[in-house]
This record gives sequence, C-alpha cells and structure tokens, in this order.
Amino acid sequence: ARRRLVAGNWKMNGDLAALAELDGIAAAAAAAPGLDVAIAVPATLIMAAAARTAGLAIGAEDVHPAEKGAHTGCISVGMVRDAGGRFSIVGHSERRADCHETDAEVRAKAEALHRGGLSAILCVGETLAERDAGQAVQVVTGQLAASLPGGAAAGWLSIAYEPVWAIGTGRTPTVGDVAAMHGAIREELRALVGNEAERIRILYGGSVTGDNAAELLGAGDVDGALVGGASLTAAKFVPIIEAAA
Ligand code: 13P
Repeated sequence: ARRRLVAGNWKMNGDLAALAELDGIAAAAAAAPGLDVAIAVPATLIMAAAARTAGLAIGAEDVHPAEKGAHTGCISVGMVRDAGGRFSIVGHSERRADCHETDAEVRAKAEALHRGGLSAILCVGETLAERDAGQAVQVVTGQLAASLPGGAAAGWLSIAYEPVWAIGTGRTPTVGDVAAMHGAIREELRALVGNEAERIRILYGGSVTGDNAAELLGAGDVDGALVGGASLTAAKFVPIIEAAA
C-alpha cells in the first residue's frame, strides 16, 4: 500500500510570526507516524521553517531548473536544499497561469529537483471550461505525459491532481469524479513508467478541508492531499492530518 502524503501549500501567505502554526502541525504529524506530512512555504520562510520543525518536511513552492546564474528573482534547487528544504511543488496551476509555465519547463524543474536530491510534487489539473467541454481527462493526462520527468519514481516524485476550478473556491469534484480522474492518471503513469506507477502517490488538491478530507481521501487511487487555505493554521490543517492518519 502507498504511504499517504498530506502536503500544505502556503502560496503567497505567511510571515515569521505565522511559523508558530508549524508547532501544532508538527505535533500532529508526530502523532501520525504512518503518514508523511510536508509544507511548502514562500522562499523567504524556508530556512526559518526548516530550522523550527524537524519532523515536518519543509519545501519550496517553485524552483528554477538551472543550477545558478542570471535569473533575477528565481531560486535554485541547491538554494532550497541549502535553506533546509527537502522538496518543491512544480507546475502549480497558479504558476502555469500567472507565469506562463509550460509542460516542458515543469518537467525541467522536476528533473532539476531529482538531480539535486530533493523531492517533487508535480501538479496537473483542468480548467472549468475544459471540464465542461468533456476534455478533463484528456487535458490532465496530456499534461502528465508532457511534464513527467525522466527517472520518475515514487521515492522522489508525487503527482497532485488539482482541478483549477476547485482551488480556493469551496467547490470540489464528486468522489466519483476524483476516483475516475485518479484512475486515469494511474493508467497514464502505467503507460509511461510501467510498474513504478503502482508506487507513485497521486494527491488530490482543491478546497480540501477537515470536513471533506476523509471522504476525498477515501476515493480510489487517492494517496494524499495538497492543501492550500486550510494548511495556513494548525486549527484547520491538523484535522486533515488526523483524517488521513
Ligand atoms: P485550496 O486548498 O486553498 O483550494 O488550494 C489548493 C491548492 O492549490 C494547493 O496547491
């Protein structure tokens, strides 16, 4: 069985004072030894967050694929590692939209993480227009095929299915829709990486809360959650950890 991963994504939220929330989250993670718990924080907080919490994997929300150089404003995998980060999200829909990231760039970022010894959470997901047009599975499996890094393996890579229309909206797909999409992602992974597909975790993300986590995590082929708003406080995130444990 795949070990569950519950990951938070703070997005452009949080300051040094907010790191106090990590204490309660780390305590809940310690009480759930069968579960992996991780939080991606803004680059400004990686070092302080990692120093504060040993039992919790702290990571970045994005990385540049290059090792170093003239890329003003970007951070490299080595910088994340140096700050104590252990992973990064890549290909989040907000970056695909805001920063025009392509599948090829997302793949390069994931491969850079692997080269640098860090883990990756690779996000895919369709827009509402794409779902309404009946193209959700085609879009998502297409993104996966085009952005899956070489050497994809469960030891360092997880996939997150995040329907764009479910992010920050309070709307979620039905459990049946989630199971169908995760099954389609698993099937595409089988075609791409063979047996390793059975080990790679597929997380669901989009309006996960303490109230719906148990139901969403119970859907077929759902191996964890990627949580935005409800990861910002221990009060909201701990119930999700408990539901997954
Ligand atoms: P919300 O949980 O706030 O909907 O965000 C989901 C997300 O985008 C996590 O990466």
